[in-house]
Amino acid sequence: MPMSQAHVHGAGPTGCLAALALAQVGWQVHLYDPLDAPALLGRQRAYALTHSSASLLERLGLWQALAPRLVPFSSLELWDQGTDRQCHFSATDLSPRRHMGGQDIGAPDPTGSARSAGPGSGPDGEAVGWISQHGPLMSLLLEQLRASPQVSLHLGRSASHPEAPGTAPVDLVVAADGSQSPSRQAAGLGWVQRSYDQACLTVQVRLRGSRADQAWELLRPEGPFAVLPLGGDAFQLVWSASARRLRQLESLDGAAFLDQLAGALPDQLQAEVLLDQPRAYPVALGLAWPLAKGSLVLVGDSAHRCHPVGGQGLNLGWRDVACLQQLAGRVTAGRLAPGRLAAAYRWRRWPDLAATLLATHLLVGLFSNRSRLLLPLRRLALDLLNGAPLLRRLSLAAMTQGPCRLWQR
Ligand SMILES: Cc1cc2nc3c(=O)[nH]c(=O)nc-3n(C[C@H](O)[C@H](O)[C@H](O)COP(=O)(O)OP(=O)(O)OC[C@H]3O[C@@H](n4cnc5c(N)ncnc54)[C@H](O)[C@@H]3O)c2cc1C
Repeated sequence: MPMSQAHVHGAGPTGCLAALALAQVGWQVHLYDPLDAPALLGRQRAYALTHSSASLLERLGLWQALAPRLVPFSSLELWDQGTDRQCHFSATDLSPRRHMGGQDIGAPDPTGSARSAGPGSGPDGEAVGWISQHGPLMSLLLEQLRASPQVSLHLGRSASHPEAPGTAPVDLVVAADGSQSPSRQAAGLGWVQRSYDQACLTVQVRLRGSRADQAWELLRPEGPFAVLPLGGDAFQLVWSASARRLRQLESLDGAAFLDQLAGALPDQLQAEVLLDQPRAYPVALGLAWPLAKGSLVLVGDSAHRCHPVGGQGLNLGWRDVACLQQLAGRVTAGRLAPGRLAAAYRWRRWPDLAATLLATHLLVGLFSNRSRLLLPLRRLALDLLNGAPLLRRLSLAAMTQGPCRLWQR
């Protein structure tokens, strides 16, 4: 039987992983991006990876190579600065099976092959999550793509156009071309977006007052503030506030910026040196509907956008890839007609996307304000999390595996 063929538009972290995932289940893949490799590698960003992403990386055989480039964190400190309540999440709040080194609880293996214990039970077994810098992650993904005989990479403006006139139609077109997604727009798929009255600013700093394996999510009235470990005393900050304030912060010199930072961080955390240039980004909640049309499916930011609180964006996109791989594996095995794949994907992804976007939106709405009326509710939420280990475990599972895994356990 001839191999199924896919075109992937967009070689960001989601498109690259989608190409590798499809190749693993026997598809022939062409991956296109107008950017060349140096431009794809050049983004200054760090991602907090969850256990759902670690499970997928492991299934794709990438975990061993990536693990030395990741910084695991063994605890997450959630701190509502409006009520001065804190909640400490640690590896003991992970599912007992995962924490005790049992069988991995990620999605079923679409290849049906035997698997090693999940990354949560390996040398980084006690990690709540991992921080990955964009450059090392992308360089590994591009290396693997170049090494795969089933993937053809077409990078740069001079690369041939995927759907040039005269080319035969393919079984599947994967749009992983970012939140502006030209593919989504050309197909006329709907996009509902709500902008936040916040933007976010990222910067790397040397910081005192935190353990090197500790991550922080500070819930401040002007917006969430994440402090993510990068190894040693280096940390990535993701500072949410009004776009106007962040534009002002971007324009400050290093010393003035550090002064403002001292005012935003709790006394315990002291930023000493800037390691890169602060950069502000717009943030929005967005969802495409439908998620597929004909043979086109949307994955990653072309399908959804969310606030960076809780570091869900890329992990959600990689769960799109996990679902796509499962369905593509069924096509290869002759258990699903290629023409049915897009429709099946569209319905399967909907609950996880809706639940995750809603959860991040509610978190921002509940904590990013100075409303006195909401303070009792916030106190209650933090007190319940502190007092009820089961609730803490469920919240962490929702964050690390996706909310929909809760009722599949
Ligand atoms: C400040 C900030 C912090 C974040 N932190 C986290 C975090 O901690 N954890 C997390 O999970 N997520 C995080 N996110 C979200 C995460 O960055 C995104 O979800 C992720 O980058 C999306 O990847 P993607 O591959 O879907 O899209 P992109 O990275 O946007 O890639 C899209 C690709 O498509 C290409 N393209 C564009 N047009 C075309 C075309 N016509 N044809 C072919 N290709 C095209 C582009 O060149 C690009 O390479 C954060 C986001 C922000 C803004």
